[in-house]
Amino acid sequence: MKIIITDIRIGFSFLFTIVALALGVCAFIAARSPREIGKTVAKVDLALIPPLMGNLIIIGSSVKNVAAAGYHIYFIGMNIAVLSMVEFTNMYCKISRERKHRTPKAVYGLLIADIIQLLLNPFFGHAFSLEGVDVQGKTYYKLIPHLGQYFHRVVDNLILGALALLFLIMVFRMSKVNRGRYRAIFVSMMLVALWQSFYFFSKTPVNRSMLGFGIFGLLVFYFSICFRPLKLLDRMLSDIAAEMVQALYVFDPNGKCVWMNIPGMKLADVKENELDDVPAKLEDLFGKIEFGEGRYKLEKIIDSNGERKYYLLEMRSFNDDSKRLSGSFLIIRDTTEEKMRIKQELYNSCHDSLTGLYTRQHLYEQIREKLDSTTGTDFITVFVDVKNFKIVNDIFSTAFGDRALQQIADWIRSIMTPDCVYGRLAGDTFGIFAPKDCFDVDKVDSELSSFTVADGSLEYHILIHVGIYEVTEKDTEISVMFDRAHLALKTITDEYQTHIAYYDKKLREKVLWDQQISAEVHEAIEEMQIRPYLQPIADVNGKVVGAEALARWIHPERGFMPPNTFIPVFEKNGMIVDVDRHMWRCACKILAEWKKAGIDLFISVNISPKDFYFINVVSEIKSLVEEYGVDPSKLRVEITETVMMTDAEDRMRMMDELRKFGFIVEMDDFGSGYSSLNLLKDMPVDVLKIDMKFLSSSGDDKKLMTIIKNIIILSDDLGIASLTEGVETKEQYEQLAEIGCKLFQGYYFSKPLPIDEFNKFASLQNE
Ligand code: C2E
Ligand code: MG
Ligand code: MG
Repeated sequence: MKIIITDIRIGFSFLFTIVALALGVCAFIAARSPREIGKTVAKVDLALIPPLMGNLIIIGSSVKNVAAAGYHIYFIGMNIAVLSMVEFTNMYCKISRERKHRTPKAVYGLLIADIIQLLLNPFFGHAFSLEGVDVQGKTYYKLIPHLGQYFHRVVDNLILGALALLFLIMVFRMSKVNRGRYRAIFVSMMLVALWQSFYFFSKTPVNRSMLGFGIFGLLVFYFSICFRPLKLLDRMLSDIAAEMVQALYVFDPNGKCVWMNIPGMKLADVKENELDDVPAKLEDLFGKIEFGEGRYKLEKIIDSNGERKYYLLEMRSFNDDSKRLSGSFLIIRDTTEEKMRIKQELYNSCHDSLTGLYTRQHLYEQIREKLDSTTGTDFITVFVDVKNFKIVNDIFSTAFGDRALQQIADWIRSIMTPDCVYGRLAGDTFGIFAPKDCFDVDKVDSELSSFTVADGSLEYHILIHVGIYEVTEKDTEISVMFDRAHLALKTITDEYQTHIAYYDKKLREKVLWDQQISAEVHEAIEEMQIRPYLQPIADVNGKVVGAEALARWIHPERGFMPPNTFIPVFEKNGMIVDVDRHMWRCACKILAEWKKAGIDLFISVNISPKDFYFINVVSEIKSLVEEYGVDPSKLRVEITETVMMTDAEDRMRMMDELRKFGFIVEMDDFGSGYSSLNLLKDMPVDVLKIDMKFLSSSGDDKKLMTIIKNIIILSDDLGIASLTEGVETKEQYEQLAEIGCKLFQGYYFSKPLPIDEFNKFASLQNE
């Protein structure tokens, strides 16, 4: 018996030391763990070492005071350990990052109060006293509890009980897969309580109650730091697999299906217990399937009941730790929707949404492809344009306009053969590329002459023009081919009679011409190849009062070029701005020289409507007269009515500004077609230039004079002076003078002249 007790003392001392060491190691590992809870666990394990040591002293001591010290270390240390367990519980039972249990202040209060009263025990003996018990010759000091010790037990057990309750609550609150880790701690606590109770009720003189807590500390370490809830992972993974929208099959190494999810059952048309049928069913659907080692992805297309479906099959094998094949899994994804969406997107990017025809970009690509894949060049590009489409939109509605475009698209479809490609180039223009002999020009012409768009009861005859370019060189850019077809279309003048025009030799030469002179214009300006000729303007007495500056190009190779050979080209490409600026500068220079020579004449310069688009005409002209010190009233500016066709208010403001500055503003080419007397009253002009050649189409001179007379009377009423240009004969001059015209310009007086000649002419005339 004696041996056994001695063994108990040594044995427990040994056991306590081992547990204390183990706690120390665990605390070290836990403190270094990357887990958030690591530090808290380390604190628990460290805090358990002092009471464990206290307990060891109690067991190992035969001296009363030493045993008493052991009891004090035990109880006070236990209070600190309880506090660390509270902190641990808070962390362990944390529900989310933000939500953490808070320790009630009373817990700290009770523990501190308990520590104080325990510390006072050596003086008052109110907590406990010791009684030596002889066990087979050895003295152990058994505790006789007093009031203070009961208080200590109540405090510790109350708090520990509360913690155990919290773990129990967590066990019930958490999902099945998660509750294991709480249950483990709760059970450990219950075992400690059992161990404590055993000691308490067994009345054994050898106190080893702390051992339970020591082991509890090790369990806390295990469950917090080492334990990986594999079950939880398994469960989660299988939940994910089960909820996948894709069909998933798991096969053993022999290709036998061992598991599938619900989409898998649906796809293979099998029940949960028909796993054996899966491989065969899948092969019925998708053909031979390889179940071997490795991985692969393949696409399958299945046509059934007139419906096409796309699937992506992804097979992957997996091996165990010793690299042996454990099985494989197959994921089958229905990609039909995705495929359809991509197809739709592709279609949308290539097709115009209104007409369903190819977009310009796609049309160009298709034509390029066709041209590159054939050897012949017998093709044409056709540019289809709806005339006055804006009016269709404005008069009817954009909805009707849309209907019209759709019907034109339908018409184009109806006249096309499979060899043709066609599309919508832009708003109201369409493009066709066709083998020459597939395009029936006569048929198209006859159909275009009666092309009517209908929408409900509404019917409208739409004028469509077609320009045709014959492809001569395959390498020409497609856009250039259509530009040429477009150019051909623009040559149509009798628009109601002719619907089709070709890009022919004449046009080709014109394009070449335009390109050449455009490339030369800047040099021509610099070298004064382009220069003003002056055409005299006379008054009723035949006296020269001024001149109009008209551009001439004296080309080093081509010789004398009148403005109709280059002005329209530059009007179109915007280079007119450079020519006009040059002409205004020249006019100012001449005026400055005249001023010096004492010649009191004015010069009219032409302003193109395009100038207003590209430059600030007003400030440009103002700064020129300032630069040359010219009186603004000597520089007259000629504008045509077309200037007013865009941004009329702004243009009127500019003219007002010019007049305020002292310039005389003239309206050129009155009678050229657009002019209306009605507009005159709103236009801030000083002089009306009536062009006889625009008014003399009838050939009846009497009628012509009556018209001019009325225009003059009306402009007089409006306070606008009139100038008649294109005066070619003495009779015309006299008649015009008679009906009240004040200023005259025309071949009757002189053609436009080079400056020197003009100067001579004027001085001779005005002698
Ligand atoms: P415009 O401004 O109406 O100029 C008058 C045109 O009528 C001039 O033709 C002139 O030579 C011609 N003309 C003058 N008297 C008679 C006549 O008795 N009978 C006939 N049949 N014609 C006569 P030109 O010089 O060929 O200019 C043609 C047009 O070119 C001008 O018409 C003007 O619109 C434009 N133009 C000429 N120079 C310039 C310029 O520097 N800038 C701009 N923007 N346009 C210019
Ligand atoms: Mg003019
Ligand atoms: Mg004119």
